[in-house]
Amino acid sequence: MTLIPFIHQLEPDESRKWLKILQEKMPGYRILEVQDCSDDERRKARVAIVANPDPEEVRLLPALEWVHSLWAGVEALLLSLEDHPLKIVRLKDQNLAQVMSEAVLAWVLYLHREMPAYGQQQKQRVWHQIRYRSASQCRVLVLGLGELGLTSVLRLTQNGFEVSGWSRNPKQVPGVKCYAGPEALKEAVKQADILVNLLPLTPQTNGLINKALLSALPKDASLINFGRGATVKTDDLLETLDAGGLKHAVLDVFETEPLPESSPLWNHEEVTVLPHISAPTDYDTASDIVSQNIHDFFQKGIIPECVDKQRGY
Ligand code: NAP
Repeated sequence: MTLIPFIHQLEPDESRKWLKILQEKMPGYRILEVQDCSDDERRKARVAIVANPDPEEVRLLPALEWVHSLWAGVEALLLSLEDHPLKIVRLKDQNLAQVMSEAVLAWVLYLHREMPAYGQQQKQRVWHQIRYRSASQCRVLVLGLGELGLTSVLRLTQNGFEVSGWSRNPKQVPGVKCYAGPEALKEAVKQADILVNLLPLTPQTNGLINKALLSALPKDASLINFGRGATVKTDDLLETLDAGGLKHAVLDVFETEPLPESSPLWNHEEVTVLPHISAPTDYDTASDIVSQNIHDFFQKGIIPECVDKQRGY
């Protein structure tokens, strides 16, 4: 039976759950923690399943051709395996994209229907009706039109919002105004009442949402960050919020997670802090995909589309 090492630095409960479901989905294979593999099994392994792996453990497998990550985001994996020739396959799961688009819609509605302001009014016993705008008068710009971004823009258009999107390469999406490339970003941002970040973290997107970009947003705009924490410059965000240049920020991802207790973001009236929950990996659907991909490799010699290491995503 072909052995597939599982290399991770997960909590014991989580790793046991993954091992169990992966083994159930892959009856023709034996899935084993890398430390439990024999020397011979390590020498022969051609593919491994990884989740935040220790790069030294990856190096224990000399015949490894590719690894399948259990996560959609791969910036940490790319960094830890920087000098390794290994191919990296990330999780592409339509279910995950649906879950993310649900979160995007939920938090866009939260901002659009003024929930942060009504929450504060209630605390102060203030009865004040904020003028209603229809969804069609609310312009939402989604940064990143990949697996998650595309599904999200479609969900937003279905719910009546005026939607635009920004990516590296030009795109055509029905009902969505598409912008591409760094030069187009400022123009796109100028027309965004709600800015949603769904970009991967790369050298180009690190710190992209800075003071200059935030100041280019229209007055009373808001931000949702569901991509990666380091894409938003926290000091610039706080400065812009405090100066009244941004209405509210919903943050699900942070440079350091869990968000340290000392972070000023926790107590800021115009910041909603979420504990990285917008689109959790689903054990069931993710294991189905990993199982199918690994099976296709052994049966048909196909390695799924790999992460472009040069591009960083
Ligand atoms: P993806 O399919 O790789 O799509 C990435 C998108 O970003 C593409 O449209 C790409 O443009 C665009 N992009 C990348 N670099 C760019 C740049 N420099 N300028 C303009 N556009 C750029 O990724 P995905 O599956 O949608 O996932 C996106 C990110 O979401 C992940 O990397 C991860 O960090 C994050 N995520 C968060 C959660 C959560 O729970 N908060 C869950 C899962 C994932 P092109 O289409 O032109 O290549």
